[in-house]
Amino acid sequence: MTLGQLLLEATKNEMPKGNIKGICVVCSNETEQGLPLKECVSDNFTGWSYFFSGNCMCPECAFLFSDQTFRRKSWVASLQEFRTFKNDEAQQILFSPPEPPFFVHIAKTGQKQTWLSCIHRVAHNPHKYFFSHEKYDVPILFERDKAETYIQIIAEAMQKGLSKTELTTGEFNTKTWQRAIEGGYRDFLRELTKFKGDILWEVMVDVYRKGD
Ligand SMILES: [Zn+2]
Repeated sequence: MTLGQLLLEATKNEMPKGNIKGICVVCSNETEQGLPLKECVSDNFTGWSYFFSGNCMCPECAFLFSDQTFRRKSWVASLQEFRTFKNDEAQQILFSPPEPPFFVHIAKTGQKQTWLSCIHRVAHNPHKYFFSHEKYDVPILFERDKAETYIQIIAEAMQKGLSKTELTTGEFNTKTWQRAIEGGYRDFLRELTKFKGDILWEVMVDVYRKGD
């Protein structure tokens, strides 16, 4: 199942149909009902680098471009439902996704369709699955155990007054180091630097909300 097929089921929409026989540039599948690209994407579309070689868009993928909600909002889709969500809910949704197959996308400014990297990454296991986040051009692997550990560490760090920026970059300002030395948790701070460049860590920092 591709992401387009899932979203069609989730939203209970009709699929757009064309009459081009060929290969879809988004999912690489063969189609007999392809639509011309210029009918699917606007002139200011910036996601060309995600596309494969082909000559049209299949109906399911064309559907992904027919509704701007998929780009503008954070959303979760399953065979039962499609719904958009506020990013305050992202943490809870990642840990309690709907019944598989499902997919989760987290938007920030609503500019980039980074789920394009996940066309063939519809999730089948709620403990280990791929999702997309607007800041990253690649599929992000959610591993529950790891994510739970990260959330605990993030909660502790934020309780100690660290900022999300410090946690994301792994670079701490002088005051933070001072407090850590005085508070006797310099090793804890040093440990945090090992998450630098870990996308799941960065996303967990982003979606973390106190009290969840
Ligand atoms: Zn396609």
